[in-house]
Amino acid sequence: MSQVYDVLIVGSGPAGWTAAIYAARANFRTVVVTGMQSGGPPGGQLMLTTLVENYPGFDEGILGPELMERMQRQALRFGISTIEADVTRVDFSTRPFVVYTEDGFGEKKHEARAVIIATGASARWLGLPSEERLRGRGVSSCATCDGFFFRDQEVAVVGGGDTALEEAIYLTRHASKVTVIHRRDQLRASKILQERAKANPAIEWQLNKEVVEVLGDERVKGVRLRDTRTGEESVLPVSGLFIAIGHRPNTDPFRGQIALDPDGFIVTERNTQTSVPGVFAAGDVQDRRYRQAITAAASGAMAALDAEEYLTGERRIEWSEVKPEPAPAPAASYTTMAVIDSAPSPVTRTAENQSLGRRRKVVMYTTSWCPDCQAAKRFLARRGVEYLEVDIEKDPKAAEMIERWSGGYRTVPTFEIDGTIIVDFDREALEKALSGSTQ
Ligand SMILES: Cc1cc2nc3c(=O)[nH]c(=O)nc-3n(C[C@H](O)[C@H](O)[C@H](O)COP(=O)(O)OP(=O)(O)OC[C@H]3O[C@@H](n4cnc5c(N)ncnc54)[C@H](O)[C@@H]3O)c2cc1C
Repeated sequence: MSQVYDVLIVGSGPAGWTAAIYAARANFRTVVVTGMQSGGPPGGQLMLTTLVENYPGFDEGILGPELMERMQRQALRFGISTIEADVTRVDFSTRPFVVYTEDGFGEKKHEARAVIIATGASARWLGLPSEERLRGRGVSSCATCDGFFFRDQEVAVVGGGDTALEEAIYLTRHASKVTVIHRRDQLRASKILQERAKANPAIEWQLNKEVVEVLGDERVKGVRLRDTRTGEESVLPVSGLFIAIGHRPNTDPFRGQIALDPDGFIVTERNTQTSVPGVFAAGDVQDRRYRQAITAAASGAMAALDAEEYLTGERRIEWSEVKPEPAPAPAASYTTMAVIDSAPSPVTRTAENQSLGRRRKVVMYTTSWCPDCQAAKRFLARRGVEYLEVDIEKDPKAAEMIERWSGGYRTVPTFEIDGTIIVDFDREALEKALSGSTQ
């Protein structure tokens, strides 16, 4: 721990980056803890979507990940620091505030005079044992990440809000049929999305139905549905199930330190002030009503201005114009040894693989939309691990290989490390496999 920050921002979604832009331009020593895994990917929820059409300033829409990259670049121009880690716990009873982070290299302690919490929200699950068992084996919460595995297959989406319909519409690019399952007869989604989904011939509807069981041993084979009015049960055969039933606020590290409402949202009063003076909250983590990128960004700006008022009461800081520096090149946070369009099948069993030579043989299977793949790349880069990246969208055979080798998993990232298959970005399993395979 080398310095006390003026403003420490937790989260790198629209709220976090906007707060950073405002705090840095007000000349505060500002740091953003970007998040890694526990509360979703760095960049936040928009990393999981495709076209964002309602963020002002982009008349033709903008891809979610591109919007977040632009926000990050804009914030970095003003000289903020970033810490790539998850916040695990905090101590708001002392001054300066103490924030602990974990990045896979052990816990670190940071101090700040003001804290802005912008940790957003994560996908909710149904809570069924069968759903848990088949997660990654056909059960997913990210259509843009895993949809590719379901080419020409029948899948279902659970939910009736905007996210569910966006996922359903996206999935029709890959799947032959997408059934939307919703507990009620009315959808909550916006009218425009409902119209689009209803006009899509590949989308079918199971309204007034709830999922009571996900069927299948090694992989999803179908879902058992119950009619919410009559109680009658039926089976819908599908090979993929995408859960889009809303989000829960990412507030676990702050429990017991600030006031939360019964659903875990941070309670704010007087704009963005939490129950602890000097700790502010912005975005979806404190907003159960609007939950939009633009409202999250706006409340990020408000939180930074509120933090400024709090800090300037404590010590005088002149509001001054900070000259932006030339935009840095996008963080070259990982080095891919090679991105290949087709998997040398099977790579790690090829004794004389030229590019990997005699060293540790690591292959990562990805898709271009997968935020966990980006996090995993940074994880490998920080350990100096060289790897082959196989984009399964460019090599459909690789998707089949993953499924075969992993015993039915259909999700990315998937790793192959000296013959060991690791599904998902499981840091512990990766550490173990990497240390075992180091020469
Ligand atoms: C599929 C999908 C599509 C959407 N489409 C649209 C759209 O078209 N238009 C629109 O306006 N809105 C859309 N939204 C909603 C929008 O994405 C959210 O309202 C917005 O992202 C909220 O921003 P935020 O900054 O509050 O939180 P988030 O975007 O959720 O970001 C939270 C950040 O906090 C980090 N974090 C979490 N926990 C921790 C921790 N313990 N330590 C450190 N960091 C942590 C995460 O890594 C992330 O960086 C969509 C949402 C989804 C899921």
